[in-house]
This record gives sequence, C-alpha cells and structure tokens, in this order.
Amino acid sequence: MGIDLEQAKQKLLQMKRETAEAIRQRSEQSNELGRDGAQDSADEASNDYLRNIMIEMNDRDARRLRLIDLALERIEKGTYEICMECGDDIAPQRLDYRPFARYCRDCKEELEQSREVDD
Ligand SMILES: [Zn+2]
Repeated sequence: MGIDLEQAKQKLLQMKRETAEAIRQRSEQSNELGRDGAQDSADEASNDYLRNIMIEMNDRDARRLRLIDLALERIEKGTYEICMECGDDIAPQRLDYRPFARYCRDCKEELEQSREVDD
C-alpha cells in the first residue's frame, strides 16, 4: 500500500504555510521585545534569553521549510516514498507522521549516530 501523494502534498503545503507564519510571528515578537518602556538589566537578560529561544526556533523551522520544499520536489519527481540514503521505501506510517521525512527509519537512526538530522 502506497500513500496518497495528493494528500501528502496538501499536508506539506499547509505545513509550509504554518511554519512560515510561525517564523514571521516570532521575528515580529522578537523585534517587539524591549520596546515596551522601562528596562532594567533583569528585563534585558530575560529578553535576551527569549530572543535566543526564538532565534533557535526560527532556525529549526527554517530547516524544516527546506525539508518541506525538498519533499514537495520529491513528490513532483516521483521519489517521495524512496529513502534518500538506501533507496528503500519509507514506511507510509512514517510519512504520515512526518510528511517531510526523507530517510527510512533505519537510515535515520544510523545517520543520527554520525551527525545531526532533523527529519
Ligand atoms: Zn534508508
């Protein structure tokens, strides 16, 4: 049983919109930080802290956006269900849970040992 590519595509497109929106909102919030008047050093420290968290989250989401684009490309090319590492099929349940996954579970686990992968 393969997966419904049209459905996967819709899911990815929606995920893309939501992720892009989350990035936009975080950038906005991060810009607003510290603009609400009096600042003492404790405020500044906590603003820095929040700002760093938002930057990290946006980095993560930006990586996710690239994976989403890659997945959409793979749908167009007809290679969506194929693991980019070993060429085996990626389990449909895995793609259902992570529509932007590009490796099968075995490869992902192996890759995780050697370097950071985020899908
Ligand atoms: Zn694989």
